[in-house]
Amino acid sequence: MLEDKDRIFTNIYGFQDWGVDAAMRRGDWDDTKGLMARGQDAIIEEIKASGLRGRGGAGFPTGMKWSFMPKENKPGRPSFLLINADESEPGSCKDREIIRHDPHKLIEGALIAGYAMRARAAYIYIRGEFIREAETLFAAVAQAYERGLIGKNASGSGYDFDVFVHRGAGAYICGEETAQIESLEGKKGQPRLKPPFPAGVGLFGCPTTVNNVESIAVAPTILRRGASWFSSIGRENNKGTKLFQISGHVNRPTVVEEAMGISFRELIEKHAGGVRGGWDNLLAVIPGGSSVPLVPAAQIMDAPMDFDGLRGLGSGLGTAAVIVMDKSTDIVRAISRISYFYKHESCGQCTPCREGTGWMWRVMERLREGNADISEIDMLQEVTKQVEGHTICALGDAAAWPIQGLIRHFRPELERRINERNGAAPLAVAAE
Ligand code: NAD
Ligand code: SF4
Repeated sequence: MLEDKDRIFTNIYGFQDWGVDAAMRRGDWDDTKGLMARGQDAIIEEIKASGLRGRGGAGFPTGMKWSFMPKENKPGRPSFLLINADESEPGSCKDREIIRHDPHKLIEGALIAGYAMRARAAYIYIRGEFIREAETLFAAVAQAYERGLIGKNASGSGYDFDVFVHRGAGAYICGEETAQIESLEGKKGQPRLKPPFPAGVGLFGCPTTVNNVESIAVAPTILRRGASWFSSIGRENNKGTKLFQISGHVNRPTVVEEAMGISFRELIEKHAGGVRGGWDNLLAVIPGGSSVPLVPAAQIMDAPMDFDGLRGLGSGLGTAAVIVMDKSTDIVRAISRISYFYKHESCGQCTPCREGTGWMWRVMERLREGNADISEIDMLQEVTKQVEGHTICALGDAAAWPIQGLIRHFRPELERRINERNGAAPLAVAAE
């Protein structure tokens, strides 16, 4: 279990003020100029050495991503940092807490990361529904300008750096980095084909790095405390601390910073008061937000909650949004609801996703009711394979994987419903 002294987000529950004076008392903006004076390449090397992997879900190494940015900016072609605060993954709510209670960690991180990658400015693209959070962020950015922490000669470093906050309009797909770039440019938010990656051709055609809020907000602390401190927490290839968001059938849903690799059992017992009705009542867990497959109770109990530990179970850490489901859950209905979400949020640009998400959801609804033929389970599995990997962005995969997880672990329940033909069953059965 993580010790208090190793927590980065010391105000995640908002017990103290989010404003700049309180943030400074907590150690933010402490000799930012000195951190920047280490030099751009040294900062990138330190982040690389820390082992930090992107906290938005994909886990791409952050320092490596920063190193893709050009070392020299061509005239008329500035570089940009785009901070993805369009947190919309069902189950995810950590970036919201950072912005509510610790926005200066994010703004200081924007300056340091932006400086390291030679960016002219950072854009923070915040989810449209985050109305109060956007107000806090606008106010925190204004405070940072007033104190000379950002803007011309930011923090006395001699470097000019602006931070702009842009509000989204409620489309999940605008959390996909290239759709976000399109949206920020004033166009319809639809993903672009990659490559080229944003570091080559990004915002307004210029080099751009897109990073998640948490990835940027932890950077100043990593630099202050050192890469070796951060990398001493967690496991090989899965380093550092992480904000876990625990929801569903636990006694105390929460957002908590913990060490990567903590076991599921310890995470839930220590921070969420255990599973509702006790451990025997646990049915399954979606460990990383709605895009990753569920894991049945028996398999997840002692699993390390990190990228590799959960991949080993055929799932993933994703955003570390841990959705706990007890035996009262209608598991087919739960996954069908997720299918509906992806059908609703598909931007419609590519055929396998546009047609496949609706197809998969309609079959899922019939399976929920038991109104299907047994052969349709395999057909549905086949459709998920036709969607997975055949689309422009990861939304297609995200729509396919939860269904694959359901079929893998709960096929007997699907068959039971079809055989009984008696509508959705109130009680779920144990996973295979
Ligand atoms: P991805 O693996 O395609 O890319 C991850 C990042 O690495 C991107 O920034 C990409 O540009 C960069 N990258 C990857 N390969 C690269 C290369 N060869 N050269 C340069 N840059 C490279 O994943 P993605 O589509 O960006 O993200 C998918 C993840 O997003 C899922 O795991 C899901 O969990 C997560 N997600 C999060 C939310 C949220 O609310 N936080 C919402 C939806 C999805
Ligand atoms: Fe749009 Fe879906 Fe294609 Fe992504 S996979 S580009 S959301 S249609």
